[in-house]
Amino acid sequence: MDEKELLERVAEDEVQFISLQFTDIMGTVKSVSIPVHRLEEALNRGVWFDGSSIEGFARIFEADMFLKPDPDSYTVLPWSQPERRRARIICDVYGTDGNPFKGDPRSVLKRAVDRAAEMGMHFNCGPEVEFFLFDNGSGITEPVPHDVAGYFDFSPRDRAQVVRSDIVKALMSMKVDVEASHHEVAIGQHEIDFEYANAVTSADNVMTVKYTVKAVAQSHNLMATFMPKPLFGVNGSGMHVHQSLQDGSGNNLFYNPDGQFRLSESARQFVAGQLKHAPALAAIVAPTVNSYKRLVPGYEAPVYICWAQINRSALIRIPRYSPGREQSTRVELRCPDPSCNPYLAFAVMLEAGMDGIRNKLEVPDPVSDDVYEYSPSKLVEEGIETLPGTLGDALEELGKDDVIRGALGEHVYEVFHRAKSTEWDEYRVQVSQWERQRYLEIL
Ligand code: GLU
Ligand code: MG
Repeated sequence: MDEKELLERVAEDEVQFISLQFTDIMGTVKSVSIPVHRLEEALNRGVWFDGSSIEGFARIFEADMFLKPDPDSYTVLPWSQPERRRARIICDVYGTDGNPFKGDPRSVLKRAVDRAAEMGMHFNCGPEVEFFLFDNGSGITEPVPHDVAGYFDFSPRDRAQVVRSDIVKALMSMKVDVEASHHEVAIGQHEIDFEYANAVTSADNVMTVKYTVKAVAQSHNLMATFMPKPLFGVNGSGMHVHQSLQDGSGNNLFYNPDGQFRLSESARQFVAGQLKHAPALAAIVAPTVNSYKRLVPGYEAPVYICWAQINRSALIRIPRYSPGREQSTRVELRCPDPSCNPYLAFAVMLEAGMDGIRNKLEVPDPVSDDVYEYSPSKLVEEGIETLPGTLGDALEELGKDDVIRGALGEHVYEVFHRAKSTEWDEYRVQVSQWERQRYLEIL
């Protein structure tokens, strides 16, 4: 949509305020609000802001930055009241030199996408976002799931059915094409799958889904959380990502009718690259202390660095091919969780896969057993390594991996690594209830 069309749409929709949004390095949505009559100027000249106040963006002396609205991302926020009708536009962040700001996660992703495009490869992905709904105000210490249903349950009286329908309606009105939504395995847990799209649109969509789910849940007096493992002993919330590469004419480069699982050589190399870089990749796609409470055996989340066709314990799964749907040939990475910054996550996933293609890496044999059942010696025998067990371990791997660091760029790497190391250190020195229960009396 060009600027003229956008201004017409805004008038038609009777919008009064515009939220100009971008995402910081940690994955939080930031927004500056302008009254609608300032939009034309914002489109022509951008909107200046002080970047030094945004976590990890800039130092005081290089603080001036400006936002360049991306007209295609315009959408009305369906929960805004007609008398204060509000729309959002996602922006790219620029520095005073007129270049994209190196600390803008959206520009990090665009850089990775452009690098692949130079080789004639276009990255598409489709995330599956899982989340929990808890009773509002049920408390941080004992969150209460809002229902007692389970995987794919259909219960006509389920409140979640109503909430999920409202979420899907809101997302559809915001141009996020939802493919499916269903109850997940744990009580109070749900999943929303949306359209497969180019990586930048998909990352924009993840951000939209997250705040829309929260806003709609709130209107039902429920609290939505994307925390990866809110409850001990039940499944956590992942954000599996289906991925493929297309050529310039839209052909799926991952499809080969004669390949194993109908995968092409490029697809195998892409998988090999992601397996190779998985330990460092984890720091970005599973970036919280809590992420590593999810990546444990027994809850359908991956732990071992291997690939397979149907096995849900593997890190990369190849969804079954359905005849006539060669365009949908794809590989599913299962370690990401919804606490990640989707722009950075998709950027490192792409660069890890492309490293496999550039260096023609070979995939190991796929694994068909349930790897959760393997003994430590069997894992060694099969050469299967494990994902980092903690955020601290993942950060150490990140520091050693030039491909993943290169994908982030030095600015984002430094800021991310520093902030996350602090988070890890803060957690590491806590004394938990588990420790007191285990040791206090017997020691
Ligand atoms: N909730 C599981 C996870 O943490 C995934 C369940 C599924 O296979 O969809 O990854
Ligand atoms: Mg799921």
